Amino acid sequence: MPDITTDVLIIGTGPAGSATAALLSTYGVENMAINRYRWLANTPRAHITNQRAMEVLRDLGREVEDEAYMFATHQELMGENIFCESLAGEEIGRMKAWGNHPLSKAEHLMSSPTQMNDLPQTFMEPLLFKTACSRGTQARMSTEYLRHEQDIEGVTTTCLDRLTGKEFTIRSKYLVGADGGKSLVAENERLPFEGKMGVGGSMNILFRADLSKYVAHRPSVLYWVMQPGADVGGIGMGLVRMVRPWNEWLIVWGYDINEPEPEVTPEFATDVARQLIGDPDLEIELLSANTWTVNNYYATKTSNGRVFCMGDAIHRHPPSNGLGSNTSIQDSFNLAWKLAMVLKGQAGERLLESYNAERAPIAKQIVTRANQSIGETGPIFAALGMAEGVDPEQMQKNLEARTDGTAAAEAQREAIRKAIAFKKYEFDAHGVEMNQRYRSNAVVTDGQIEPAFQLDADLHYQPTTWPGARLPHVWLYRHGDGAETSTLDICGHGRFTLLTGLGGEPWVEAVKKVAEEFGIEIEAHVIGPRQTYIDHSGEWARLAEISDSGCLLVRPDHHVCWRASSLSDDPKADLTRVLKTILAR
Ligand SMILES: Cc1cc2nc3c(=O)[nH]c(=O)nc-3n(C[C@H](O)[C@H](O)[C@H](O)COP(=O)(O)OP(=O)(O)OC[C@H]3O[C@@H](n4cnc5c(N)ncnc54)[C@H](O)[C@@H]3O)c2cc1C
Repeated sequence: MPDITTDVLIIGTGPAGSATAALLSTYGVENMAINRYRWLANTPRAHITNQRAMEVLRDLGREVEDEAYMFATHQELMGENIFCESLAGEEIGRMKAWGNHPLSKAEHLMSSPTQMNDLPQTFMEPLLFKTACSRGTQARMSTEYLRHEQDIEGVTTTCLDRLTGKEFTIRSKYLVGADGGKSLVAENERLPFEGKMGVGGSMNILFRADLSKYVAHRPSVLYWVMQPGADVGGIGMGLVRMVRPWNEWLIVWGYDINEPEPEVTPEFATDVARQLIGDPDLEIELLSANTWTVNNYYATKTSNGRVFCMGDAIHRHPPSNGLGSNTSIQDSFNLAWKLAMVLKGQAGERLLESYNAERAPIAKQIVTRANQSIGETGPIFAALGMAEGVDPEQMQKNLEARTDGTAAAEAQREAIRKAIAFKKYEFDAHGVEMNQRYRSNAVVTDGQIEPAFQLDADLHYQPTTWPGARLPHVWLYRHGDGAETSTLDICGHGRFTLLTGLGGEPWVEAVKKVAEEFGIEIEAHVIGPRQTYIDHSGEWARLAEISDSGCLLVRPDHHVCWRASSLSDDPKADLTRVLKTILAR
């Protein structure tokens, strides 16, 4: 007999585990989350929070989204990505980042009802965890996962109560391994991986110091320091990162992974901080210091039977592009509704296979992207004449050379400008964040061809309603009070939604009947004049890619799963066919 039973056991309360717990509890699914420590993240690792992750928080409730903004550093303060000799030293260049370039800002505003922001993990985790626990999650801290065994009916997990030293078992129908970059769940389940762990050595130095005099005139969350040695290990350059404006900071500095791991003593940490800030007398209040490794490693299969892994457990990569926590939260948005529908008997277990089909390619994509971004700092060092192997004295001369009036210096300045601008693939890669399109058994394309990307798919989000893509955001206007409402707001919330226009009313009638027959909830909205939601701006007509009498079927995670370009002969038969496929019924 197991000591405890629950429907879903979640190992880990990081961004992935806490988001899964919050979503499952919101959907009314019994779940338990365990963490081997007594509390949540104790260092502010993740911080760049992108629009797609914010859409998950918004789906959890406007109060969750609003609380995130309340604690976050807002987008406009994230903007000036600085490249410098040190914070006190000379500035070498800058680029407007994270949607703050006016052209990029327009794309952000048009793509989502949410805003990118800087929310340290020490704020994000408690927010998600609190949401989960207040809605029903049973949380057990100081509880360590040891091993599990699955059979055809469920999973038995053995845990260690770290307070009593006693082992106990938890029986669940499904197990979620959200246990981070050293995932024991993934290891015990023998999930296959590609790539390499430990490709670079890095250290975090967290401290308090008022640095506002160096940054108030150029507010940013990232200050990149180009000094001798800054391209060794780490994340491509020395980094002084704002944690709280402007008196809490995190330095990221590399070390050679082939050498013994340095001991980051308080003296060593203070020296690194003084060197990167460029103030030999700086006093810091050291909060913590630790080393970590850069990984280039992803699971090629993210689940096995009743066990699903997510977050860093399946994608292990450097923080470049700020994708880790964001992607972890999106993994959970993909899985939670599927688990909920299967557990409620609304879908067959085959629906769960789509988690692997949809998220494994994303794991590969983001691990590859983040590692590529490290390599793309090379041209900046090369243009500055600071590439590895040049002695420090010569480096300084090369750096000075760019200030000459010669043709060679002009060419050098041009090379620096180009190399810095190219970093938009790391610091302004809106497409990487938003262009996720799924191909799986939980999407029915009916042979419709995927639209090609018109612009660079890494840099620019391209809205489409092609089945598999995220539903485009458009502001609609609510009849009566005129309230601006996003298309994403009228979808999601654990339900399927059908969107149609005037002339598409038969879809609404049909979907009501189909929902009843399937025993599931499906929302339906007719968008048009005198309807509840009106497309006054014409933006929906521009982006819907269907005629008014057509329809879109949208999954609980905002992805379109089927569309009809116009009214069909038998809407009920079509919807039945599609839902049978998607829900494996
Ligand atoms: C310096 C730095 C900066 C970063 N910046 C960003 C950024 O800007 N944006 C971004 O999106 N990401 C960023 N990341 C990455 C981000 O921190 C991770 O991707 C994210 O934490 C992954 O979330 P997770 O829930 O999968 O795993 P984790 O946060 O690692 O959580 C794992 C959880 O599992 C628990 N656990 C582990 N083993 C066990 C066990 N055996 N039993 C019980 N519990 C267990 C842990 O205690 C923890 O609760 C950054 C990382 C670093 C190091």
